[in-house]
Amino acid sequence: MLAATAALCSSVLLVACAGSTGSPATSTDRDGGATSAGDGGSLTGDGGSPAGDASVNVCQPGAYTETLPTPTASIADLVSSYAPPAYQDFVLKILERRYPLGKSLVTRGLANTEQGNCIERFTSDRSNAAAILRRLEVVVHECGHIADFALSKSLGTNGYFIRDDLTFSCKSGDTTTRGGVTFARSRIRGDAYNASRPPCGGTVTKGCDSYANVYLDGNPDDAKFESGDQGYNLLLEEAVQYVNSLATGYAFEDQLKTTIVSNRDGILTLLWYLERYIKLARETYPAAYKLISEDPCWRHGTLTVWARAQFYLEKTKGSTSLGIDDEAIEALVNAPELLKEIETLRQLDCK
Ligand SMILES: [Zn+2]
Repeated sequence: MLAATAALCSSVLLVACAGSTGSPATSTDRDGGATSAGDGGSLTGDGGSPAGDASVNVCQPGAYTETLPTPTASIADLVSSYAPPAYQDFVLKILERRYPLGKSLVTRGLANTEQGNCIERFTSDRSNAAAILRRLEVVVHECGHIADFALSKSLGTNGYFIRDDLTFSCKSGDTTTRGGVTFARSRIRGDAYNASRPPCGGTVTKGCDSYANVYLDGNPDDAKFESGDQGYNLLLEEAVQYVNSLATGYAFEDQLKTTIVSNRDGILTLLWYLERYIKLARETYPAAYKLISEDPCWRHGTLTVWARAQFYLEKTKGSTSLGIDDEAIEALVNAPELLKEIETLRQLDCK
């Protein structure tokens, strides 16, 4: 059975100017209407297992590797010859030069025609190359969601396209009210960590969590569906796409010029949510914790996304343009008792 409820997940990109001491402007990129598959369906075949991941080592922290983007590859000829009608060709060609995996994500998103053209949906100004480049990480992120929604629908599970040689398809990850065994991600707002970076609410200031407004919103106990009502399956999906956002930022950092973006803040926030969710599951939601810690697909999938995130965080460490308040968020992620939740999964997966 496929869940009929739309997944209202969105991508958040904060933008600040170099030297600015004010609050960053917030750009929230809605991808409402994208439908995600539910769980426990009429799947036959090999769903529920990690596939094609023989090369992924999650047992030694820092061992994960993948083909890095090539930020030094010139795109000057493509930029100078840009013509608006050919925006799609432009996006695919610049990604091919510097981040072929990003091209693969966008191509797969475009193939999901039920969702329209994911480049067009997530760009408004296509009049010049610079405008497209400013939106590129959002395009890769959102096309990545739309690719995964197609994968999930075709499999009747939650599908995650990580790389051309690595796809996961796991079952029962949605909330109990949506056919799975997990709980609404917004419930982590009630934990002991929420106050250390509280949701921003209406005003974005340094030190508050602007991602919570999008991903941890709503009341899971009311009848109204909101983004925060979604379960572990779509929390992990956000983390997958925020890694892709950071990889795109890494590939095109030279194009930012004097702009600072929140690529590192985004994935670090999602890692913090994953840790808090797993801790809350272990302490309060045993069925959810059993799924995450004992189902090899969810456990190994979580560790793979974690390892891939750390890979790109390491590559972008010290970047002055890919993070706004990333050091503060990284300190929260590195709280020993939260890191222990990931370490416990690693020990289970690697024994
Ligand atoms: Zn997203």
